[in-house]
Amino acid sequence: MSKKIRLDCISCDKTYSYDYKSFFCDCGDLLKVSFLKKPNLSKEQINARSTNFSSKCQSGVWRFKEWHLDLDESSICTRLEGNTNLYQSDLLSKYTRVANLRIKHEGENPSGSFKDRGMTTAISMAKLLGYKAVACASTGNTSASMASYAASCGLKAFVFIPDGKISFGKLSQSLAYGAHTLQIQGNFDDALTLVQDLCQKKGIYLLNSLNPYRIEGQKTIFFELMQQLNFEVPDWIILPGGNLGNVSALGKAAFELKEWGIIDKIPRFAVVQAKGANPFYLLMSTESDSLTPMIPETMASAIRIGNPVSWKKAQKVILNSNGYVTQVTEQEIMDAKTMVDRSGIGAEPASCCSIAGLKKLQSQGIIKTNESVVAILTGHVLKDPDNNVKIHTDVNSDLCNNAVKLSNDMGEIEGVIDGLLG
Ligand SMILES: *Cc1c(COP(=O)(O)O)cnc(C)c1O
Ligand SMILES: [Zn+2]
Repeated sequence: MSKKIRLDCISCDKTYSYDYKSFFCDCGDLLKVSFLKKPNLSKEQINARSTNFSSKCQSGVWRFKEWHLDLDESSICTRLEGNTNLYQSDLLSKYTRVANLRIKHEGENPSGSFKDRGMTTAISMAKLLGYKAVACASTGNTSASMASYAASCGLKAFVFIPDGKISFGKLSQSLAYGAHTLQIQGNFDDALTLVQDLCQKKGIYLLNSLNPYRIEGQKTIFFELMQQLNFEVPDWIILPGGNLGNVSALGKAAFELKEWGIIDKIPRFAVVQAKGANPFYLLMSTESDSLTPMIPETMASAIRIGNPVSWKKAQKVILNSNGYVTQVTEQEIMDAKTMVDRSGIGAEPASCCSIAGLKKLQSQGIIKTNESVVAILTGHVLKDPDNNVKIHTDVNSDLCNNAVKLSNDMGEIEGVIDGLLG
């Protein structure tokens, strides 16, 4: 490892060994993985690994291992994550008025969100570095993922979640997988501050996305997308932004592949925030040069984050890719979610910001009708069952699809079915 990668500060010239125990430079900024020499991995090797079902490298993360953490198979803790589908949908193309739209559903990962991609790399690193316990603060999906991976590789897991603010699907996963789950009064940002101190005091490995090895695994969303598109780069990639680790990861992946001569252009990255949790949108749409934290509020709980740790990394990606940041209202998120669900694909609310944001950027003429777009759906439709039911019991909505209550009477039932058959 020491011959392949090291940790560089994102702001100053300081560099650190890959096994440096902190995720921050002395200057206070975050660290990122950098490569000491150009990695060697061919497209043929990638394709061959995809169908090698006896190897851990069939994973949609580890088949690209030379491009992130080049571990021996014996050191890899994997649930064969990734390998997520790339969809087309007439309904969603019509809804967003973008004909050349593909939808990559990261909710199809083992624990139901893209977080698994960064978890397999960071938790493998935790084992390599000799840690016995891991911890994270989470709006839900990081904890679900961490709990699953910790269970499957025998590490103790401590999850810190904001009290009463995470969805039922996610909380239940953390409990089911056996993580010690601690509900903290306060929001995600409070929980993250707390868990950072605790990890330092107790020698526990922190698995939030300020951990640079999480970012390395998440890069494979882009790598796998490129494999699926035969390395033809789309004009735009659009995704929701919360803590901003994911856009940082996808951007890093694109710039690295360009530098290594694998792709010939950088896609434009568009980040979508909820209006009630929009500190990055405010930063990028005003003249200010540092992010102002806020108290976040949105139904899209996975992006209910007011003080995103990776904002500097994300800012570079937006600026260097000629990207864009937009925001969407609660109503726009709900409308888009109804359409994503009705398309048969389905996703949790935060994910649907991609589609809501795409519709908005198309209508503003920022994304053109003839451009190729990949929208990332980040989490599974079952992550937030309460919201699914809530949307479809709201009788004021046109697309409300409430359950019809009937007595056990064939005549009555036939009458209703005949009406619905039309
Ligand atoms: C974590 C998460 C996000 C936000 O990703 P960041 O890297 O924090 O910006 C969006 N959607 C879902 C479903 C998530 O779990
Ligand atoms: Zn520094």
